[in-house]
Amino acid sequence: MSPELGDLEELYQEVILDHSRRPRNFGELADAAVRVHGDNPACGDEIHLAVKFNGDGGLQEIKFTGHGCAISQASASLMTTKLKGKSRDEVEEMLRAFHDLVTSGNNDSPKKLGDLLVMRGVRKFPQRVKCAMLPWRAVEQALRQSEGESTVSTEEPEFA
Ligand code: ZN
Repeated sequence: MSPELGDLEELYQEVILDHSRRPRNFGELADAAVRVHGDNPACGDEIHLAVKFNGDGGLQEIKFTGHGCAISQASASLMTTKLKGKSRDEVEEMLRAFHDLVTSGNNDSPKKLGDLLVMRGVRKFPQRVKCAMLPWRAVEQALRQSEGESTVSTEEPEFA
């Protein structure tokens, strides 16, 4: 059981626990074009993201494996349900909106974010922001390359 959950009363714990216990789009993607390993040593979270692009560079398939706290795993699960099938522009727009949500609580597009709104409470806990952003930084990196493997880490200065 993750000790931090007791501190996060504002989080919609049921949704987060459901996604962390029964993550969606969890598993290997055999013919992935890009694999990104996300590492959050401060919390012990790891996300291994695998994506396949469609002809226009959108996310045809997105799956992940990993382990770590409930926030990181639920964030990855919620993210994949939102981003699967989305165009590159839509993914980038969602990434910006989600980052705003978990860092400032700002939310210009509630309909677009939908279930992702459950992550809003992490903004009060800087360490948890890293947990929530980890899979999103991984997908951001995936969009920067058309193939191959790479790693992102919350220890990098540009991570926020
Ligand atoms: Zn974590």
